[in-house]
Amino acid sequence: MDFTTKKYKTNKKCMEAAREIPVYDEVDVVVAGAGLAGCCAALKAARDGANVILIERDGILGGVATAGLMTCITNFFFKKDGTQVVHDIVEEIVDSLTEAGAASDKWKNVEVPCIPNNSEVMQECLFKKLTEAGVRILIHTFVSDVIMEGDTARGVIIETKMGRMAIMAKVLVDSTGDADLAYHAGAEYEYYGHDSCSTLFELANVDLDKIMKFFEEHPENFDEQKDVALPFETFRKNYYERGIFHTPHGGGKKLSILQDAIKEGKWWHEKGTATKLDHFGLYATRGSNRLLVNSHFCYVDTLSDVEAHSYAELESRLFCIQLAKLMTERMPGCENAYLSRISTTMGVRLTRNIIGDIYLTLDDVKVNRKYNNVIFRTPILYKKREDGKDLGLRLYNETIGIPVEVLIPKNVDNIVIGTGKCISADRQSRQEFLRGQMNTMLFGVAAGKIAAEAVRQNKSIKIMDVTTITSSNFA
Ligand SMILES: Cc1cc2nc3c(=O)[nH]c(=O)nc-3n(C[C@H](O)[C@H](O)[C@H](O)COP(=O)(O)OP(=O)(O)OC[C@H]3O[C@@H](n4cnc5c(N)ncnc54)[C@H](O)[C@@H]3O)c2cc1C
Repeated sequence: MDFTTKKYKTNKKCMEAAREIPVYDEVDVVVAGAGLAGCCAALKAARDGANVILIERDGILGGVATAGLMTCITNFFFKKDGTQVVHDIVEEIVDSLTEAGAASDKWKNVEVPCIPNNSEVMQECLFKKLTEAGVRILIHTFVSDVIMEGDTARGVIIETKMGRMAIMAKVLVDSTGDADLAYHAGAEYEYYGHDSCSTLFELANVDLDKIMKFFEEHPENFDEQKDVALPFETFRKNYYERGIFHTPHGGGKKLSILQDAIKEGKWWHEKGTATKLDHFGLYATRGSNRLLVNSHFCYVDTLSDVEAHSYAELESRLFCIQLAKLMTERMPGCENAYLSRISTTMGVRLTRNIIGDIYLTLDDVKVNRKYNNVIFRTPILYKKREDGKDLGLRLYNETIGIPVEVLIPKNVDNIVIGTGKCISADRQSRQEFLRGQMNTMLFGVAAGKIAAEAVRQNKSIKIMDVTTITSSNFA
């Protein structure tokens, strides 16, 4: 179901001539989209023995986590009691960041809300692991269509500077974050539009100790109930003992420097296409002198209004430039800072999701519904609410088993969804829980595992025996 109307400027149509195109290659598995999830999917499929090509439209590996500059992995590897649940490739990727000095090596603690890291090092880690596993990578390559034989996907159409070509594959993993492949294949889907997007930026030459001192002298500026709910004392401890600086997204509403600027007419809650311009989450690793700013939102139909999306993204970059200036003028510790980077792509939180034989809801998560074909387990988390008030994301002391069926579109064969953003689940469970970097990587690994196993069994996704992979739990 699509709740948006595609915004064309005319009602006219024209015919595109049918033409023969080259088949660039034939492989076991095509993974489309090299965000964190797609990289995990390709890595897992290759390590499990498949011949894999990973295709990415941008020139960067990592998607939202690098091109989108969301260099902060929310740390939900643990149950509330501190037991670590998530391991395998997902843990390996974070460990490789800490080994490279690009993230704090003290992250393995349930009190740590997130793992700030360096996006350049993240790309390096992903590239090394993918190439070591034998994954071939095409960047600047857009998957524009799926080749179907009845209801079965057989390959993809790609657009490159070499021209339009096809790649045939036994299984397609859709890690595009927009379910592009499933959509082109005619899978059932939901799309609500009004997509929540943010452009992030980074300040360099920041005096983090001084910023920390400002919060210690004015603790009322820290919001304990926003984003990942965290007592002020834990925030302090994370900085001094674990080298992790994290103020909650949404916490800017308590930050005097922003609110004073708004009162003086020097900053805004809303302007142009942007809103929540004072939301403001800050993330950094002590000693890096770099501060990531998760600054504002815009809401736009990214899949049905190309012009509005373009304008909002370009305008949002201007807000980053202006906010960086405001911070250097007003924020203690930012006096000598400068704007070092703006995300190259505006991050989009959620767009399409597919419909599978099982449709997971946040209520299922809350009651920890049990499923048969569990592909991995993950710690349960969702927002605590009292009297309609949002009291922030909380971890619980249980894990939920994710069924294979949420990764597989109901009405097409040979496509597996490899990202937590687009699986068969309601918007709330994906928004609060499943799209986060840790979980989306788990979905990537799961998709890679399913794809490689289908290849090994020489069967299509719909008829393969999933019991061989659902019995083992890699989380
Ligand atoms: C602003 C923002 C803030 C967030 N904050 C946090 C946070 O604090 N902590 C946390 O854990 N998570 C956070 N998230 C969520 C998390 O970062 C993302 O959900 C996660 O990184 C998504 O990874 P992915 O690989 O599933 O998808 P993406 O990163 O979206 O990757 C999809 C990839 O596919 C490519 N692609 C798309 N279409 C095509 C196509 N047709 N052909 C070829 N390639 C294609 C894209 O270029 C991209 O590289 C945030 C997300 C956003 C947007």
